[in-house]
Amino acid sequence: MEKQYDYIIVGQGIAGTVLAYTFIKSGKSVLVIDDNTISACSRVAAGNFNPIVFKRLVKSWMADELIPFADTFYRDCEQFLKQEFYWKKEIVKIFAEETEKEFWQTKANDPNLSRYLNTSIETDFFQDIIHNPIGATFVKDAANLFVSKYLADFRNYFSENNLLMDEKFDFEQLILNSENVKYKSVTATKIIFCEGYKVMDNPYFKWIPLKPAKGEVITVRIKNLPTDKIINKGVYMLPIGDDLFIVGTTYDWVNLNDEPTEKARTEIADKLSKVLKVPFEIVDQQAGVRPSVNDRRPLLGLHHEHQTIGIFNGMGTKGVMLSPYFAEHFLTALEGKSNIDNEVNISRFQK
Ligand SMILES: Cc1cc2nc3c(=O)[nH]c(=O)nc-3n(C[C@H](O)[C@H](O)[C@H](O)COP(=O)(O)OP(=O)(O)OC[C@H]3O[C@@H](n4cnc5c(N)ncnc54)[C@H](O)[C@@H]3O)c2cc1C
Repeated sequence: MEKQYDYIIVGQGIAGTVLAYTFIKSGKSVLVIDDNTISACSRVAAGNFNPIVFKRLVKSWMADELIPFADTFYRDCEQFLKQEFYWKKEIVKIFAEETEKEFWQTKANDPNLSRYLNTSIETDFFQDIIHNPIGATFVKDAANLFVSKYLADFRNYFSENNLLMDEKFDFEQLILNSENVKYKSVTATKIIFCEGYKVMDNPYFKWIPLKPAKGEVITVRIKNLPTDKIINKGVYMLPIGDDLFIVGTTYDWVNLNDEPTEKARTEIADKLSKVLKVPFEIVDQQAGVRPSVNDRRPLLGLHHEHQTIGIFNGMGTKGVMLSPYFAEHFLTALEGKSNIDNEVNISRFQK
């Protein structure tokens, strides 16, 4: 029997999931098509978001708008699913050099940054466990989404409500009409592709210049570290319970696959051993490929020839923080109430 939806969404990573819920909230009907064995990117993401770019101590792009939006969005998801997966968490910054501390102190007094940068410096932050001769402080208003739980909870919801096709999307089966699209026994007004870096295999959007970056994280057991803060000193340590921490990350623009490597494991473990005074045990390692774009901006828009197909992608290293705001932005544009901002519109890559 033929089934009709407003939207088909291909891909249930962070981007596709956030977009699907944004549509559902606004009363649209949605079918999600996803084979989650194709790309592990969202499932390996630590899920942190940081309003500050540590190197330059400037605000992350659009932090003032993205963060309150994400806070409301993920809390709403928690209520909708009656689950917990989102927490505000300070990011403790351990200084590696005096000059780094001085730079922070100058920036923390900038009224434009004081909302995020704590001013006081602590000299005794877990001194028995962490090398902290210079001092530590923290970033306010940071947060963490337990991404793998978020995706699994929504997958259950989609599955229980018959809104999920668990399969690899087959482009041969897609029929494009001027008013709708057909895929197997399904008709929809539009289809939106959210396949992460695998959009490089999508015949309609592979012309968009992606610069994917493989990243790896390790999970380690460390005793007696705080479990309510993310700690950063060159690597981040995210507490996930039972003395376990996710530690990352690496960047590799050549080997685009989800295979964990010895090289990355050693790189992260070496950095971690310079931070800790105590031994740690590596219990897991994961890899994924980030759908990054050269200009580090998301990719939103409809295909220039086929207005029934669209894309929501390009979240790079910041899928958790970017997706909620830009899903709403895309929805508003699809409803004809506004235009997609040029900075994130895929039209910026059209010749
Ligand atoms: C090691 C690492 C750490 C990270 N840490 C963070 C972090 O702390 N905070 C943060 O915000 N971001 C982080 N990121 C980045 C974040 O993971 C990405 O921004 C985000 O996952 C991108 O999500 P996506 O939905 O676009 O793509 P994906 O997660 O790749 O999702 C795409 C989905 O589509 C499916 N799919 C693809 N092709 C098809 C097809 N043809 N048919 C059916 N299904 C298909 C895939 O299997 C997958 O389920 C990290 C990334 C890595 C690698």
